Amino acid sequence: MDPIDIDGRAGEGGGQILRTSLALSALTGRTLEMHHIRAGRGKPGLLRQHLTAVRAAAALCDAEVEGAELRSGALRFVPGTPKQGTHHFDIGSAGSAMLVAQTVLPILLRVGGQVRVEGGTHNQSAPPFDFVEKVFVPMLARMGADVSVRLDRAGFYPAGGGDFTIRVAPSELRPLEGAMSLTEGEVSGRAIFTRVPASVAARELAVLASELGIPSERLRPHEVRSRGPGNAVQVFLDGSVPELVTAFGKRGRPAEEVARDAVAQVRAYQAIGAPVGEYLADQLLIPLALGGGRFRTGPLSSHAETNVETIRAFLGPDALTVEPDGGTVIVSA
Ligand code: AMP
Repeated sequence: MDPIDIDGRAGEGGGQILRTSLALSALTGRTLEMHHIRAGRGKPGLLRQHLTAVRAAAALCDAEVEGAELRSGALRFVPGTPKQGTHHFDIGSAGSAMLVAQTVLPILLRVGGQVRVEGGTHNQSAPPFDFVEKVFVPMLARMGADVSVRLDRAGFYPAGGGDFTIRVAPSELRPLEGAMSLTEGEVSGRAIFTRVPASVAARELAVLASELGIPSERLRPHEVRSRGPGNAVQVFLDGSVPELVTAFGKRGRPAEEVARDAVAQVRAYQAIGAPVGEYLADQLLIPLALGGGRFRTGPLSSHAETNVETIRAFLGPDALTVEPDGGTVIVSA
């Protein structure tokens, strides 16, 4: 079979094109030839996180790889046969360990295995550990997947040093159901903090209480272990489909502003009224294409649209169907 040529400039031109392509190259056995990797980003090419994702995907399917170097803009990935194993990767920076895990998850679903990744576990522009644990993994479980995740140490930007493990049993995915309408459930809030004063968390939780009316028994300061300072406000919506929003604290950003950012994300999710949130939609696309089923979400982000196109390049134009429905969108496979 001919290699699949993937242009990293397509759509929003980010790391998702690479991650999806690696996973689907391993699963389909098609050689991946990718160029202009992450050309849409300020620092294009393979950064440490992406390089680790390439190495992890290669290790799980015995691939031969050319171009796996820092800042490389082109890659040839010739997959072998995926096989079960136990692996450990250290990104060596605060790059997202969760996105390395996202890359290999589709391969793990087929063959099973365990992957430990050291790096960032709570990064801007990446799924935080808690999102994976409370939102993504439960949705995979509904599709019949047997996945468990563990956080041994949190890793925030810039210190990194987080320690995360994912374990997957080989799973036959079944179609996703029950993700077409939103029933709102209990709302709870958490302020994660490490190496910053506990008063930061208390101020954040006070904003969640006053703006969202969350009762105090469902608001929790959550101190975690990590090598450097970190702070994030999270609101969990335990509805028919779970959703977790995260706003990150950083030096010079007042605690109240961080919490109000989380509040705004909750209101945006509720205003759309579709069960599957923006990031979950993006992350469910590969499992949906593999296992079938459907879900309702808001209008697709350009990130998700690019992901749809990448998946179609490997699995065919009918792998995913996207239909607007009122102010929402139904994605089916
Ligand atoms: P990229 O920008 O291409 O590197 O991809 C970012 C990835 O992180 C996508 O899979 C997004 O769905 C995911 N992501 C970004 N921000 C969040 C968030 N706040 N919660 C959950 N997932 C996120």
